[in-house]
Amino acid sequence: MKRIDLHSHTIISDGRLTPKELIERAKAKGVEVLSITDHDTVAAYQQLADVKLDGLVIIPGVEFSTQWRGVGVHIVGLNLNLDSLAIKEAVAQQEKARADRALLIAERLIKARCAIDFQRVEEIANHSHIGRPHFAQHLVELGLVKNISMAFKKYLGNGKVGDVKQCWAELGQIVRWITEAGGVAVLAHPLKYKMTRTKLSALLDDFIAAGGRGIEVVSGQQTKDETQVLARLCVQKGLLASCGSDFHQPSQWSEIGSMSYFPKECKPVWTEWSEVNT
Ligand code: AMP
Ligand code: MN
Ligand code: MN
Ligand code: MN
Repeated sequence: MKRIDLHSHTIISDGRLTPKELIERAKAKGVEVLSITDHDTVAAYQQLADVKLDGLVIIPGVEFSTQWRGVGVHIVGLNLNLDSLAIKEAVAQQEKARADRALLIAERLIKARCAIDFQRVEEIANHSHIGRPHFAQHLVELGLVKNISMAFKKYLGNGKVGDVKQCWAELGQIVRWITEAGGVAVLAHPLKYKMTRTKLSALLDDFIAAGGRGIEVVSGQQTKDETQVLARLCVQKGLLASCGSDFHQPSQWSEIGSMSYFPKECKPVWTEWSEVNT
């Protein structure tokens, strides 16, 4: 089986490598098929024109933020037509939502007595798409928390003061945009939401009803047991299976292309993509 990684980030969202550096690293790690799935933006794809792919197949993708029953949920869109009106409208709306949200997060943190400097947060985010990790980094440098993980635990994680998620387009709209752009909508890292099995099953039912077709059966650093739980769910719900490292930067979480085993009983999301199956 090919080495396939369909979930990764660059410096354009909250990763650390430029799109070009990410491609170089993917090639060095033996990745054969890669999707760059930055949060709510496809800007990385504009920087690939003069990058040497050496046979690496690129699947245009994105990771959209949304919410479902009050939980922040991520939907990966894969094999998108980046020239489609649908994807242009989607990223324009989501990028604006992210910018508006950044101001709201700043306001809320200041109210919670964190003397943050928004200009500094913008700087940390390279003056592009601001995410919670950029706020986290600033809270650490201000000495308000010991590390990034504590910043999420205290201020930015699910349900905390800086967790603003009402800005995003709703799940159905996200799936429609992806589908209209010729892509496949995939539920990202299903175990990260810490839902009960019943709730996760209900989310998948709503997702499928909206036109969602895939689930990340293999994601990041999850264990083989966890992968097996997701494989069963994938088959049960008749979904396509995707896999991705969710790589953000070297030496943090998962390495690019670090997929271990892919459950044989699952139908891979790339079965339908001729450029991967040649
Ligand atoms: P945002 O896209 O602004 O909602 O930020 C979400 C991102 O924050 C995720 O994609 C992760 O990269 C990062 N993140 C989420 N939870 C944590 C955590 N507990 N510790 C460190 N980073 C996290
Ligand atoms: Mn991220
Ligand atoms: Mn995510
Ligand atoms: Mn991600």
